[in-house]
Amino acid sequence: MPIDLRSDTVTRPSEPMRAALAAAEVGDDHLDGDPTTRRLEQHVAAMLGKPAALFFPTGTMANLAAIMVHSPPGSELLVDADAHVVNLTAAGVAAVAGVQSRFVTPTSRVVDATDFKRAIRSPSRYTPPLSLVSVENTHNGAGGVVTPLADLREISGVAADAGVPLHLDGARLWNVEAATGVAVADYAACADTVMVSFSKGLGAPAGAALAGTREFIDAAWFTRKRLGGGLRQSGILAAAALFALENNRNRLAEDHRNAARFAELIGNAGGASVVAPDTNIVMIDVRDGSTAEAVARAAAEHGVLVSVWSGRRVRVVTHLDVTTADVEAAAAVMRTVLVRD
Ligand SMILES: *Cc1c(COP(=O)(O)O)cnc(C)c1O
Repeated sequence: MPIDLRSDTVTRPSEPMRAALAAAEVGDDHLDGDPTTRRLEQHVAAMLGKPAALFFPTGTMANLAAIMVHSPPGSELLVDADAHVVNLTAAGVAAVAGVQSRFVTPTSRVVDATDFKRAIRSPSRYTPPLSLVSVENTHNGAGGVVTPLADLREISGVAADAGVPLHLDGARLWNVEAATGVAVADYAACADTVMVSFSKGLGAPAGAALAGTREFIDAAWFTRKRLGGGLRQSGILAAAALFALENNRNRLAEDHRNAARFAELIGNAGGASVVAPDTNIVMIDVRDGSTAEAVARAAAEHGVLVSVWSGRRVRVVTHLDVTTADVEAAAAVMRTVLVRD
């Protein structure tokens, strides 16, 4: 079996998780409700300190639904150019929501309040009205980077000053909590709406939740329906998410330690440079003259799978299906490859 470090989505449900989903009490969620899904939604809403939450099959759909509820077609979304919601969703914001994105370039590792503020234009007859600010925490493309609570509060202030809501793409907000010791609810309090994922570091097979006011969630239910995301016996998936929250949330720090260990072992092998990880994602920029593609291919030949993030950047992600020993073995392979290829 190769050591698969391409993503924290590659985890397979453990036997106890499979037992939990097999035992789930279910109903027709789209018709009159699924009891396990309801329990998950209430649990997540309480954890995030929001009045209501709604289960979605994917985080991609949850983010898109949030944007469709907040932003009328032809209005503008303020977001960083490398955000998942605009970079990795087959142009859903443009093609499905009909919303124009205005990209903010971070001056540091990730966008901050000053970056957002600079990008906000005064309303005019020529420009689309701003309808939403979106921020991603942790930031995947930047390498699992944490936006600390104080920074998120400032961003929240900028959105409020502009008179628009703030959406938090918190697919990996659980990792932010594990890295900082600050509760997810404190981050969620900065935003009007929050998406969290169960299928990343938490290790559930699928699913995400969107949280906000009851009125917002009612509108999101309708939009989820429109997008074809109404599920039937979704308690099967919700049970896995509940199991993951109960059993896998408290071990995320282990993934962070493994990522730090991996980064330390790579150092600057073969002239590569490693972005020191905040959480469970390690970005490696390969040396001049080499390519991420070549490095990933060579690593795969030696049983280590990593993703090609861009021309010269390789992404490595630790997760609950790899041990410290696996990560050390993978780092040894990666070192050899970086020096040689
Ligand atoms: C994975 C991810 C999503 C989408 O979640 P899916 O369940 O895979 O659709 C959204 N935002 C971020 C930051 C992600 O990493």
